[in-house]
Amino acid sequence: MASLRASAPPALLPLYEVPPTAAELYEEIADCPMCELARTRTQTVPGSGPLPCDLMFIGEGPGQREDELGLPFVGRSGQFLDELLASIGRSRRDVYVTNVVKCRPPGNRDPEAHEIAACRGYLDRQIEMAQPKVIATLGRFSMARWFPGERISAIHGQPRRVDAISVIPMYHPAAALRNGSLRSVMMQDFARIGELLKAAS
Ligand code: URA
Repeated sequence: MASLRASAPPALLPLYEVPPTAAELYEEIADCPMCELARTRTQTVPGSGPLPCDLMFIGEGPGQREDELGLPFVGRSGQFLDELLASIGRSRRDVYVTNVVKCRPPGNRDPEAHEIAACRGYLDRQIEMAQPKVIATLGRFSMARWFPGERISAIHGQPRRVDAISVIPMYHPAAALRNGSLRSVMMQDFARIGELLKAAS
């Protein structure tokens, strides 16, 4: 892991900081044997950013670059996520980012229901530690936790209150890389996150 981290671009190094509150959790994740993704991963990708944190993003699962570097959203989707964050005056250093599964599904296939279930306890603890004001789901797998059976095309950018948290479903950044017309849609949806945070502060 250390040698892989050594190959990370310097700009990413701050994202390796483990929040002290999460040190034990990250160690547990690093040793997790609970599904078959443990056999094919290079390393686990627990999450990045501070805990607690007012704004949390939950994606699908690590891709190849994330599996190599041990950080979420550091490939092409991550570059677009960085742009979206900049558009609301935020950066990766001050948001918490994780995925529904902490290990790369081989060949970037979709995570399976039993893999998401095996990882759910970790995500629950991350949400508990973050105590976020806003959770943005990125893509359909994290969306399904709060909006089962709904369609992203119908509900993207529309927050709902879940207890004290505003949960806002977003397209996955990779969708905008495949379909350029979604870029401006995602920019508008991100502006909504900025408004939610302002209203909550
Ligand atoms: N896509 C995701 O859903 N998560 C990542 O960490 C990277 C790409």
